[in-house]
Amino acid sequence: MDEKLLAVKNLSVVYKTDEVVYAVNKINFDIGRKETIGLVGETGAGKTTTALAILQLLPEKTGCITEGKILYRGEDLLGKSKREMGLIRGAHISMIFQDPMTSLNPIMTVGDQIMESLVIHDHERKHRKTLEARVDELLKLVGIQSRRKGEYPHQFSGGMKQRVVIAIALACAPELLIADEPTTALDVTIQAQVLDLMEDLKEKLGTSMIMITHDLGVVAQTCDKVAIMYAGEIIEKGTVQDIFEAEKHHPYTIGLFGSIPDLQVETRRLNPIEGLMPDPTNLPLGCKFHPRCKFCMEICRHEHPEPRVFNEHAIACHLFEKEV
Ligand code: SF4
Repeated sequence: MDEKLLAVKNLSVVYKTDEVVYAVNKINFDIGRKETIGLVGETGAGKTTTALAILQLLPEKTGCITEGKILYRGEDLLGKSKREMGLIRGAHISMIFQDPMTSLNPIMTVGDQIMESLVIHDHERKHRKTLEARVDELLKLVGIQSRRKGEYPHQFSGGMKQRVVIAIALACAPELLIADEPTTALDVTIQAQVLDLMEDLKEKLGTSMIMITHDLGVVAQTCDKVAIMYAGEIIEKGTVQDIFEAEKHHPYTIGLFGSIPDLQVETRRLNPIEGLMPDPTNLPLGCKFHPRCKFCMEICRHEHPEPRVFNEHAIACHLFEKEV
């Protein structure tokens, strides 16, 4: 059976503050082994909330998964206890955050921080020397000389700090790595190095990845599949070839990408589209994109478009309703 490593089914997440924020609305996607999916969209589209929901790291007081399933190797993570999720995080599913400075402890050496991650998941109680050797191995893997393990984060450049964060995320050889804008806080030249490193590691270790990004170059370079998010929904998804080369696209995708370029796209950001993403406490009826869509029809204002699937390329837009 072709069991997916991770399958997100009909997932909805709200934040309950003074009002209810509908952050993620009935999304579906999956990831196979050694596959990378890009979650793409503007700020506030629901990408990071999706990642936090998978790891069950939503803010305890406000974040709430209202429906859906998150199947990891066929088992629903939503049925796991806090302790079980603690064992899964880091050891099976790891996350790299955008800014390495907020991920690293400024008063611990980088070697100790990698060691800490190893010790937390060391159920076999390995000998200290074995763990030390693993710290050296991980530093080497991300291109840092092991003699620097006694240094503190402030002694490293931004790119090197992100390499340390990647080493910590990979410490327990997770099967799935979630990278939330991993290069956004870095200079362009360093971004390329970190991406090359991640690609290289993916090849070597066979890790699957969710890549959250605004950057089309990152999508083209690293992803096998892409899901475009808008107002908490996936409005288009397909292979990277579908998203960059197919003739049919959701109007939002066309606006976001400016025009759909080829896969040789150079590093650049998504284009802002006229108008604003709707207020997530008061989402419009029908298609969530209709207030900004120049193709809007009467049906779009009151009927939510279901995804139409062309081979594996899915587009949720009434324009394609009759084309199945
Ligand atoms: Fe535009 Fe209608 Fe398609 Fe929404 S469903 S993207 S409003 S054409």
